[in-house]
Amino acid sequence: MDKHQSKTALVVGASRGIGRAIALRLARSGFDLWLTYKSNHAAAKSVKEDVERLGRSCELLCFDIADYKQTREVLEKRLNDATPDVLVYNAGIARDNIFAFMTKKEWSEVIGTNLDGFYNVVQPVVFGMLAVKRGRIVAISSTSGQIGQAGQVNYSASKAGLIGAVKALAREVGRKNILVNVVAPGVIVTEMTENLPKDKILPLIPLARFGTVEDVAAVVDFLCSEPAMYIHGQVIGVNGGLAI
Ligand code: NDP
Repeated sequence: MDKHQSKTALVVGASRGIGRAIALRLARSGFDLWLTYKSNHAAAKSVKEDVERLGRSCELLCFDIADYKQTREVLEKRLNDATPDVLVYNAGIARDNIFAFMTKKEWSEVIGTNLDGFYNVVQPVVFGMLAVKRGRIVAISSTSGQIGQAGQVNYSASKAGLIGAVKALAREVGRKNILVNVVAPGVIVTEMTENLPKDKILPLIPLARFGTVEDVAAVVDFLCSEPAMYIHGQVIGVNGGLAI
């Protein structure tokens, strides 16, 4: 694996699950980390300690990406000092329900977090990246955003929205040496997927296993590395063949 030298990665939603694995993988590749999370201080502190054990620095930033004012206050203070080389927009939530029964709250929480959060977080970072004329951005979408998933109309809409946003952004900022891509995981073993009916889903996956957080982190790490310098505006599925 190539080493990224003394660069900084901002990983959004890195206290648990996929975000945690991405943070650790990038730390192993030589990135110093800025990690964000919403409320789980103990988990975030534990990731920070793991990153530091790998010999990289780690700063924790706590804010709710759905809260525009709070996000801007915390982030802009940090961005005044420096612009990260890499931004991984990973935080996201699901509030699954059959659409006919879906409440306005379930709809709004998911769109307000997953999609509004993209604006709240990514816009100020892009502003800084444009000034320094470099950067890599990876947004974590989902197979649900590519092909739709029953019971996830809200979530699928938010994740499809991320794909549209990234494709448009890639057209805007490519000339400024900012590479923007999407990683779309399938079913990955994390707290988010704890209650899924796994026996029903497994037969749909040609590789006959659920994904691990490391499966996703490895692809994100690659997209942030030197050899990936001509991959731009793409959606990379990490789904074991669930969507082909
Ligand atoms: P987890 O629920 O395990 O972790 C979510 C992370 O995001 C935590 O760090 C959490 O912080 C943070 N977070 C959640 N809401 C907010 C918020 N409003 N503001 C700031 N931070 C927030 O999720 P996964 O690791 O399973 O998923 C990570 C991403 O991957 C999500 O975008 C998800 O949609 C996507 N994905 C996951 C799949 C899977 O199978 N697991 C499949 C496809 C996509 P805190 O700990 O403080 O709550």
